Amino acid sequence: MGERPTFLIIGAGIAGLTTALAIARAGFDAVIAERAEALSEIGAGIQLSPNAGRVLADLGLDDAIATLALEPRLIDIRDGASGAVLTALPVEAFRQRYGFPYRVIHRADLQKVLADAVKAAHGVTLILGAVLDDVLARDDTLFAKLKGHRGEVMEVAGIIGADGVWSTTRDRVPGARGPVPTGRTAWRTVIPVDNAPASLPTDRVGLWLGPNAHLVHYPIAGGAAVNVVAIIAERWAKPGWNARGDYRLIAERLNGWSPEVRAILAAAATWQRWALNAVDPTGPWSSGATTLIGDAAHAMVPFLAQGAVMAIEDAAVLGDCLAATGGNAEPAFRAYEAQRRQRVTKVWNVANRTGEHYHAEGLTARVRDLALRAAGTRLILMQNDWIYRWRPNGATGETG
Ligand SMILES: Cc1cc2nc3c(=O)[nH]c(=O)nc-3n(C[C@H](O)[C@H](O)[C@H](O)COP(=O)(O)OP(=O)(O)OC[C@H]3O[C@@H](n4cnc5c(N)ncnc54)[C@H](O)[C@@H]3O)c2cc1C
Repeated sequence: MGERPTFLIIGAGIAGLTTALAIARAGFDAVIAERAEALSEIGAGIQLSPNAGRVLADLGLDDAIATLALEPRLIDIRDGASGAVLTALPVEAFRQRYGFPYRVIHRADLQKVLADAVKAAHGVTLILGAVLDDVLARDDTLFAKLKGHRGEVMEVAGIIGADGVWSTTRDRVPGARGPVPTGRTAWRTVIPVDNAPASLPTDRVGLWLGPNAHLVHYPIAGGAAVNVVAIIAERWAKPGWNARGDYRLIAERLNGWSPEVRAILAAAATWQRWALNAVDPTGPWSSGATTLIGDAAHAMVPFLAQGAVMAIEDAAVLGDCLAATGGNAEPAFRAYEAQRRQRVTKVWNVANRTGEHYHAEGLTARVRDLALRAAGTRLILMQNDWIYRWRPNGATGETG
């Protein structure tokens, strides 16, 4: 190994790329091994809440992200059946309260910002088309062998599995929890503004709630298109990310929803459908000099839009723990896991409860709607302070 310890990161998704930047900032080297031959992001859009913005700004990426992301004007929450507005949060309130905006961005744009920073970072190498083949330990030294690149063997100080919900690095962590079907599917499409119906404005995040389903949309690509995702309770578990969704099926699932929602469904040229799986965050994430990060450690349901944000937070904490231990993987990974577990588990559980809330029916839904109408921006944000106030360096943002 050279003078600086080298960490091998498996996977170049949001978790892997951000981790590489945090490791470089801590003063160590990183090699990212990505299975795909080219970087490509699954899904079109991503919401970046202020707690992600803070970490990305610390990594020097705020300007690049601000150029490509949008700050919507409103978050509109509506009843899916009647179309009635339950509440409308001015997004400016996030910037005022948390010091960072609530942004939406095309995933490919976020990935480009991260990948460009990785390319420019000192001591970070991205290897495409490579997976981890084997790990050998000899006299306290760890060697990792990659398959698919040049089959090279490298001396590494630690291995970080950022390989997503279907992680195989997880096999190196005894007792780690694996993916479990959530009984829900995500349906996704992108509608160019030229084809968008009036119910699909580009100045807001729209959230439509209904029994056993909800639909969310927000602008991407500088406002040229709208990302639409519907999450539906249905027992369909075909593995993979890119199965084609049949318009007739989603139209049937959302039968009885308002004409505005039905106009959105009809405007989409194609749908993609994938089954949502989750990984229980309470199992072990680390073993010796191997740890897991992002979805590999704790994939969650997307109701709080915090899965990638948690991966970004993870990366910052992992970098800080490595800095604090002088690059000593085992104590750093233990400290990282200890610092992250409670917060991630809380977010994971609240995401599940939010799903029940969004997909409620009957009396429970009526009570939810009354509460949303009564709450107002200040109360809604106050309830979420513990999520959005988080900052690296040990502060949790918990307000009690
Ligand atoms: C419908 C939906 C909407 C969402 N919206 C939001 C949102 O608005 N905000 C938010 O914060 N989160 C959101 N999420 C969650 C977010 O998408 C994930 O939490 C996030 O993408 C996880 O990133 P990751 O890097 O951990 O994993 P991934 O993005 O899955 O990346 C894993 C990478 O590892 C690679 N890989 C896999 N196996 C191997 C291997 N063996 N060797 C080498 N490489 C490998 C893959 O090719 C991939 O590049 C949403 C999720 C869904 C399903």
